[in-house]
Amino acid sequence: MKTQLDELTSSLLKQLQNLNKEVEQQEVGRVLTVGDGIVTADGLDGVVSGELVVFPNGTEGMVLNLETNAVGIILLEEDGDIKEGVLVRRTGKVTSVGVGDALLGRVVNPLGMPIDGLGEIKHTKFRAIERVAPGVMERKSVSNPLQTGIKAIDAMIPIGRGQRELIIGDRQTGKTSIAVDAIINQKGQNMYCVYVAIGQKNANITQLYHTLEAAGAMEYTVILTAGASELSPLQYIAPYAGCSIAEEWMEQGKDVLIVYDDLTKHAISYRTISLLLRRPPGREAYPGDVFYLHSRLLERAGRLNEEKGGGSITALPIIETQAGDISAFIPTNVISITDGQIFLQTDLFNAGQRPAIATGLSVSRVGGSAQKAIIKKLSGTLKIELAQYFELQSFSQFGSSVDDYTKSILNRGRKIQDLLKQQNNNPLSMVEQVFILFAIKEAYIDKIPDVLIFDFEKSLLDFAKVNSADLCNKIIDNPELTDEIKIEIAATLDAFMEIFSLKITNLDN
Ligand code: ATP
Ligand code: MG
Repeated sequence: MKTQLDELTSSLLKQLQNLNKEVEQQEVGRVLTVGDGIVTADGLDGVVSGELVVFPNGTEGMVLNLETNAVGIILLEEDGDIKEGVLVRRTGKVTSVGVGDALLGRVVNPLGMPIDGLGEIKHTKFRAIERVAPGVMERKSVSNPLQTGIKAIDAMIPIGRGQRELIIGDRQTGKTSIAVDAIINQKGQNMYCVYVAIGQKNANITQLYHTLEAAGAMEYTVILTAGASELSPLQYIAPYAGCSIAEEWMEQGKDVLIVYDDLTKHAISYRTISLLLRRPPGREAYPGDVFYLHSRLLERAGRLNEEKGGGSITALPIIETQAGDISAFIPTNVISITDGQIFLQTDLFNAGQRPAIATGLSVSRVGGSAQKAIIKKLSGTLKIELAQYFELQSFSQFGSSVDDYTKSILNRGRKIQDLLKQQNNNPLSMVEQVFILFAIKEAYIDKIPDVLIFDFEKSLLDFAKVNSADLCNKIIDNPELTDEIKIEIAATLDAFMEIFSLKITNLDN
C-alpha cells in the first residue's frame, strides 16, 4: 500500500515539475547567438511575432522570427552585456511607442523617447507600432487639398489630404527639401506633421530641426529619427512607430502629414536584419516579403469617414534611385503602392531647374479631385503646354529656322519653366500661386523678356499684396474662378503691367 502511495506521489511530483518546466519554457528562453543587434534564443515557446522581450539588464528586444527550435529577436538598444546563455523573458506586450500632443516640437527615437535634451516626455498613452490598416468601409475618398506651397506641385501634381505621394529621385536632387517645404506650408492649416528620418546623420537632423523651428513649424511637428549610427532594428521600426503617432491624431479627427525619409534606407535595414536572421535572399538580395514591408506601412495612410471622425494621414514616402533608375526593385514596388509620384531628375537640378521635377514622369492619381477649383482651372493646360515645349525643344535643336508657331510655343514654354522654379524654404500661398498661374494662362508672360521673368514674378506678387488685398481675401474665402474674380485679377494684372512695361522699355533702350 505504502509503495503504491509513494509511486503515486513521485509520479505526481514529476508531472508537476514538468508542468513548471513547460510554463518556464513558455516564458523564459536562453540566448543562443548574438551579433549585429540580432539575438537568437531557444525556449520562449509561447512567444508571438512582434512581442517585446526583455533581457536581465532591462534591454528590450522585439521578436521577428519564429522557427521550430528558436526565435530571432532584434535588439532595440545597443547592449554589450548580452552574451550566449543569458536569459530572456517574455513580456506579453507588443512593441509600442508613446503618442500624443506631448510629442509636438520634439525630436524622439522610434520608442517615443526624447533625444533632443529638452527634458523628459511624460507619455500617458502608448500604441502598438504595427496595426492593421483601416478597412475600405471606414474610409472616404480624398477631397481636401494639401497645399505644399510649391507652385509646380500644387498646380500640376496636386496632393489631397489622405493621399500617398511618392517623392523619388537620385541623391541630392531636392527630395527632402520638397517634404520640408510641405511641412512648413502647413502652418495655420490645422495639420499635424510627423517627419520620420531613417538612417540619416545627426547633423542633418539638427539642421532640419533649426529650419523647422525658424519657420515656426515645430509647433505642430514631431521629428522621429533612427540615425545612421543606430542599429538596423531601430531603423526598421522607425516608420511604423511614426505612423502610430500619426494614427493617434488621425483617430482624434485631425489631419496629419507624415514624411518617410527615406524608404530606401528602410528596405536596406530590413535586408540587413533578414540576412542576419538567415532568411533566404531574393531579388537584389532583398527577402521575398519586402513588398509587404512597405505596403502594410503605406496602407495605414488614408482618410477616415465621418463616423470614424474624418481624420486623415497623408504620406510622403521618399525613395532614392541610382542613376535615375525608377525601374529597380524597391522603386517599382513603392510606385505601385502609392497614388502617384514626384520624380526629380539630376540633370534638371544641375541645370538650375529647381525643384527638379520631371513633369512628364510625375503624376498624382487622386489629388485632382481635391485641388482648389481656381488653381485647377488656371493650371489645366500647363502640363500639356510643357509637354509640347519639351517635344519641340529637342526637335528645334536640329534645325536653325523655326516657324512662328513653334517659336511662340518655345518662347512660352521657356518662361513657364522659369516661373516654375522656386527656392526651397520659400513656399507660396494659394493666392500668390493664383496670380502667377493667371499671368501664365492669360499670356501676360509672353511679353516679358526672359531676363526680367523673375523680377516680373516678384514685383507682381508685391504689387498684388499691396494693391489688391481685398481681392486676395475674396479668393481665400471662395477659391473659385468666377467671372467677377477673373475680371478683378485681370484688372490687377493690367494695372501692374502698366508700371512694369517701363522696365521692359528701359531694357530695350
Ligand atoms: P539626399 O539624397 O542627400 O537626401 P535630397 O535629394 O534630399 O538629398 P536635399 O537635401 O533636399 O536633397 O537638397 C540638396 C541640396 O539642394 C540642398 O543643399 C538644398 O538646399 C538644395 N536645394 C533643394 N531644393 C532647392 C531649390 N528648390 N532651390 C535651390 N536649392 C535647393
Ligand atoms: Mg534627403
